[in-house]
Amino acid sequence: MANTPPEGLRYPWNTPPDLGTDSIEVAPGVLWLRLPLPMKLDHVNVYALDEGDSWTIIDTGFASGKSRAIWAAAMAGPLGGKPISRVVVTHHHPDHIGLAGWFQTEHGAELVTTRTAWLTGRMLTLDEQAVAPSETLMFYRQSGMDPDMLDKRAKDRPFNFADIVAPLPLGYTRIKQDDTIRMGGRTWDVHIGNGHAPEHATFWSRDDNLVIAGDQILPSISPNIGVYPTEPMADPIAEWLEACERLALLARPDHLVLGGHKVPFTGLPKRMEQLISNHHGALNRLADYIEEPKSASECFAPLFKRTIGEAEYGLALVEAVAHLSHLYQTGDATRSQRAADGAWVYRRKG
Ligand SMILES: [Zn+2]
Repeated sequence: MANTPPEGLRYPWNTPPDLGTDSIEVAPGVLWLRLPLPMKLDHVNVYALDEGDSWTIIDTGFASGKSRAIWAAAMAGPLGGKPISRVVVTHHHPDHIGLAGWFQTEHGAELVTTRTAWLTGRMLTLDEQAVAPSETLMFYRQSGMDPDMLDKRAKDRPFNFADIVAPLPLGYTRIKQDDTIRMGGRTWDVHIGNGHAPEHATFWSRDDNLVIAGDQILPSISPNIGVYPTEPMADPIAEWLEACERLALLARPDHLVLGGHKVPFTGLPKRMEQLISNHHGALNRLADYIEEPKSASECFAPLFKRTIGEAEYGLALVEAVAHLSHLYQTGDATRSQRAADGAWVYRRKG
């Protein structure tokens, strides 16, 4: 499939490394590898930075037998038998933090991440649920979830972090805004993103043009921004826009951005503009759409402009809640609970 970058972006490598044992050296001492994910977004990028006698790795993939086998092969292959001494995790999502605990426990690696990523990852890993909690079902009902799907979620064992994230032992090293960190022979400024995941770390090299962006900045897809039952009144859209506008000030056209998915790219100032304007566009379309009151599940058309299948329904729903709730919390919409099904319905103000 042709891999055409959005306007103003350039992809120095159009073909990614083979999933698993292959790697591409994207800069001296910086390797790009890929691990598979069993979903529509079928891969996650990880990076290995040469520390001389060992490696620092950025993110890990899911905890699965397959991922562990791939890492073992990578360590014996492209990583040349040197140990992984440090795991840097950009944010708490399972495709990024999945094997961090395994690297700590089995390989003696140090874990470096933000406090919120560590606390959230560890809390969710310990919070194993046999059935969906009533708060979760209530949240979905109030989002207008399709009744059959809600029924299924009430009966089935829910998705658990622990299914795909290895146990995280006690202890990690915290990074925060304005820190610097040495990795791969470079000094990196830590800048914190938000919106896709709370306190999401990004790394900006002082010594060359590299930016390690995790999922905060992706080239051809917009990172998912959702509201979850753990914090129903969160406003991640506002946090996302604040972070993008702040990070945009750092962006240079020659930056080589190493993200968590898709391929590395240059043209970061243009991409920051696109990421910001995509959400303003979505909010405007949504505001027009809710002249008549609508629940989150009734707002997929203006937000995604494509049909949403069952596999994407959950992510689409939390993203729709995020956008509607943002309009509500900025005073651009009102909301009330619909008597028929208990869903929050949002209506444009004025
Ligand atoms: Zn990701």
